Amino acid sequence: NKQVILREYVSGFPKESDMSVRSVTMKLKVPEGSNMKKAILVKNLYLSCDPYMRIRMTNIQGPNLFNSFPLSSPLTGFGVAKVLESRNPEYKKGDLIWGTTGWEVYSLITETGALFKIQHTDVPLSYYTGILGMPGLTAFAGFYEICSPKKGEYVFISAASGAVGQLVGQFAKLMGCYVVGSAGSKEKVDLLKNKFGFDGAFNYKEENDLDAALKRFFPEGIDIYFEHVGGKMLDAVLLNMRDHGRIAVCGMISQYNLDQPEGVHNLMCIVYKRIHIKGFAVFDYFDLYPKFLDVVLPYIRQGKIVYVEDIAEGLESGPAALVGLFSGRNVGKQLVVVAHE
Ligand code: NDP
Repeated sequence: NKQVILREYVSGFPKESDMSVRSVTMKLKVPEGSNMKKAILVKNLYLSCDPYMRIRMTNIQGPNLFNSFPLSSPLTGFGVAKVLESRNPEYKKGDLIWGTTGWEVYSLITETGALFKIQHTDVPLSYYTGILGMPGLTAFAGFYEICSPKKGEYVFISAASGAVGQLVGQFAKLMGCYVVGSAGSKEKVDLLKNKFGFDGAFNYKEENDLDAALKRFFPEGIDIYFEHVGGKMLDAVLLNMRDHGRIAVCGMISQYNLDQPEGVHNLMCIVYKRIHIKGFAVFDYFDLYPKFLDVVLPYIRQGKIVYVEDIAEGLESGPAALVGLFSGRNVGKQLVVVAHE
């Protein structure tokens, strides 16, 4: 078996060399044992690179939503896999699943509670790492459940061309909102405007004054902010929110590599403008998954929603693909192909 392991805990920006790829021998059989009653042996096909994995690369002290990755063990994360052998009556050989698996070619999964069986294979299988997987459900739950969107409202999304953002923007357009996104390159800004149908987009790296940039796109203010980056962007957004606006705090990627989080100065705007601000975690919404598929699959099939993926080939490319999220190297949903079947 080939595996990507974490060599040591990370502070600051993660590097490829924080991880390594190793080969180990493994019997391709589910072993005997009382803890193997629900076990399945899978071959991993696609692995998802997700920003929260950086948090797990830290030696976490104290309470946190996440656990640290154990050192010298394969990373775990979301992925798409094929069942090779099953002790679990819910799965049989040949089934396709998505959910938590290992960063390795073959995984023995004993905790099958966090897996979903893939029923629809007329769409690309890799979509189950993105639009039809965890990031897709994040966009769906975050936008419809947290933002209380209404037709005609003004929506702003940061890290807008990424796995979650591109979808939030398209949901908002389908609802009849005015949608603007920020991203970190011209290529991404072009995608937002020309491929995902945003009304406007800007490169935040080229704006000296984020407050002025937001005023340019939202002269009447922002009703809904879908927060992905935190820091200076959040500060500027707070100044531009409308009364009774909503902020869905999905993530704050600009803070993940800092030892000390940046200060946010304009918090009093939450009071002055009576802003509803709510953090959320997608795993509280996994029960929405069937409803989400009913909504999103037809949109994909009819071409009403499109999705851009950034596909790295081979397990060996995993570390570079993962750390690339933090310099914005990915264009669209970053995933790794381990095997095509
Ligand atoms: P993306 O596909 O958007 O990839 C990350 C992107 O973040 C990069 O491409 C880069 O884009 C941008 N970025 C990186 N560093 C910075 C920085 N310092 N400042 C501003 N932008 C930066 O990731 P996802 O769509 O998967 O995730 C987006 C956010 O949503 C993250 O914060 C993530 O943690 C969060 N999330 C939360 C979930 C939840 O349950 N609450 C579930 C899934 C994701 P650019 O070139 O535009 O800078």
